[in-house]
Amino acid sequence: MTMVSASTRLIALLGDPVAHSFSPVLQNAAFAAAGIDGVYVAVRCSVHDLPGLMGAIGRAGGAGNITLPHKEKAAAVVDVRSEAVRRTGACNTFWGAEGQIHGDNTDVEGFQRALRSFLGGPPTGHRVLLIGAGGAARAVMVGLMDDGVSEVVIANRTIERARAMARRIGGERARVADTPGMIDGGDFDLVINATRLGLEAEEPLPLDLERLARAGAVMDLVYGKEPTPFLKAADALGIRGADGGEMLVQQGAVAFERWWGEPGPVEAMRDALNALRRG
Ligand code: NAP
Repeated sequence: MTMVSASTRLIALLGDPVAHSFSPVLQNAAFAAAGIDGVYVAVRCSVHDLPGLMGAIGRAGGAGNITLPHKEKAAAVVDVRSEAVRRTGACNTFWGAEGQIHGDNTDVEGFQRALRSFLGGPPTGHRVLLIGAGGAARAVMVGLMDDGVSEVVIANRTIERARAMARRIGGERARVADTPGMIDGGDFDLVINATRLGLEAEEPLPLDLERLARAGAVMDLVYGKEPTPFLKAADALGIRGADGGEMLVQQGAVAFERWWGEPGPVEAMRDALNALRRG
């Protein structure tokens, strides 16, 4: 890391929990690789403190990321919303400019880039089962729609949240799984976990994959040092999978570009991720 000095710019990750996040290590590695005078820190904060922190950090020349469960609140807090924030109703990246707080949702592009590299191309024409309807799921939904999937079936613990997401983003290509029969025996090219299940040990799996007739591939947005429980379950059934590591790198590279006006050093971020996984 370059020396932290009185001119160093503060970039803060705001969320709860934040202790699991790899972003500080990835971004500080990116700042060092690009020779940038910034420092990235994680700050656990309540939803009540979020507006004050975003406003104060942004107006003081800083910037940041937002993680769960605050992305939807953050979308309401920013003064200037990108198209991705307007479409998803979620914000994961903010920065101050001319006294205003700007927000973007780099999870959309980060997800698209990661999924394309996993599948070897866009998921055009795919039938997708999407589990979850929070901030991350909304970014996934926009990415899938823009990349031309044929249908997304949304399963979420809180059905009303899935309905709201389908209405807002999915249109005619979205269906909400409001009965078990919409999942049991289903045939999906791709199954995506966009819930937070897998973040903590001892949590249940987002879905028992054996309920499906076929799952062509599985993508888990959760990431960690070890393969996630959902990916382990997929692997045991011979289904290929990818975790959220590459999406983390890619959404971080786009956020880096918003803060510093130059492309994020993806290789340095990937190396930092791999070092974290090895260690
Ligand atoms: P969020 O807005 O808080 O949404 C959480 C989602 O998880 C909701 O769908 C929620 O369902 C579901 N959920 C939570 N606890 C559950 C439980 N006990 N049983 C069933 N469902 C449960 O969080 P988020 O921002 O969308 O993030 C979700 C996950 O994606 C997190 O693990 C995050 O780390 C990951 N993520 C990864 C990346 C990446 O770059 N790899 C980027 C973004 C997010 P309800 O609606 O019923 O509450």
